[in-house]
Amino acid sequence: METIEKAALTADGLQALLDALEARGYRVVGPTVRDQAIVYDDIESLADLPKGWTDEQDGGRYRLTARGDDALFGYAVGPHSWKKFLHPPLQRLWQAKRDGASVQVTPEPKDETRFAFIGVRACELHAIAIQDRVFLGGAHVDPQYRARREGCFIVAVNCGKAGGTCFCASMGTGPKAEAGFDLALTEIVEDGAPKFVVEAGSAGGRDLLAALPHRAAAAGEIAAADAVVAETAASMGREMRADDLRDLLMRNLEHARWDDVAERCLTCGNCTMVCPTCFCTTVEDSSDLTGTETARTQRWDSCFTMDFSYIHGGSVRSGTRARYRQWMTHKLATWHDQFGSSGCVGCGRCITWCPVGIDITEEVRAIRESQQDKGA
Ligand code: SF4
Ligand code: SF4
Repeated sequence: METIEKAALTADGLQALLDALEARGYRVVGPTVRDQAIVYDDIESLADLPKGWTDEQDGGRYRLTARGDDALFGYAVGPHSWKKFLHPPLQRLWQAKRDGASVQVTPEPKDETRFAFIGVRACELHAIAIQDRVFLGGAHVDPQYRARREGCFIVAVNCGKAGGTCFCASMGTGPKAEAGFDLALTEIVEDGAPKFVVEAGSAGGRDLLAALPHRAAAAGEIAAADAVVAETAASMGREMRADDLRDLLMRNLEHARWDDVAERCLTCGNCTMVCPTCFCTTVEDSSDLTGTETARTQRWDSCFTMDFSYIHGGSVRSGTRARYRQWMTHKLATWHDQFGSSGCVGCGRCITWCPVGIDITEEVRAIRESQQDKGA
């Protein structure tokens, strides 16, 4: 078992971290403000980070507001997740070219990009681990996902603020990063300015930390970092009892609440797009106008579309009730059977970005409180 060191890093030290990652050939991606939201994109310097911004979140609501200090990571999670990079929305799988009577098929070359992710939250580390099981854990490994994932360097940031829709504490996935990172930072804001307590979680992380200007964290700094995480854990925007969800939902597949939520759900698929664990895709073929070149492209799909369950003449799940139920029971119940864990990490994105504010924690609560058959 690796020992975890705790070091102190200034804001300048964080800039040195970004520079060191770039010098080592990583594409450095982190949080930045765009279109009045905090999204993940390429960053070069601390100036790209959402300094002084925080987010207000509720069902169907997201706003950026000023914090009144210079915190760099003083927000929860936004509409993007890291799956955008590891499992991109559009990905060509192969191309084919006709040359006379023969056809040449060329598989898509492996993506050699080495990503460094800055600001990965504890729930997102769990989401990446879940997608690892999906794409790498079975008999059929996704080679593109593997190529991107293997080269990845992860700088986690422990949450210093719980979002209004967060419930990671209920799901056992946060707010402290416990595993799956190379470095983990806790931001401490003193007199309005940030500094960081850093833990190394891998040999690569320890190696990089050694190359940065840092010192051992003082006992007071470690205590302050622990207090930041404890305060976040105590201020979750939502909560959801999760230990019995599989049986609760499977016992209640005909509950009247599914009709109720179907009255509100627009089947827009937003919840699946923003969810960091949803992984479903479809494939599309396209050809040029001369019919000599063609390509197959994989793109994100959603169990909320009519086409998703279309087989020879009709959709298995033709109504909203069936589609919402499929999504929620897969996420919270049958995912356990398929992958050995919940498919939900409690990030709250599906609540915030649902245009009508449907709240997965509220749907569970409603079923729990009004179920007829209480089980054994
Ligand atoms: S189901 Fe909702 S809360 Fe759970 S991981 Fe997906 S987006 Fe986050
Ligand atoms: S639950 Fe909300 S986000 Fe999901 S499909 Fe329905 S309306 Fe769209």
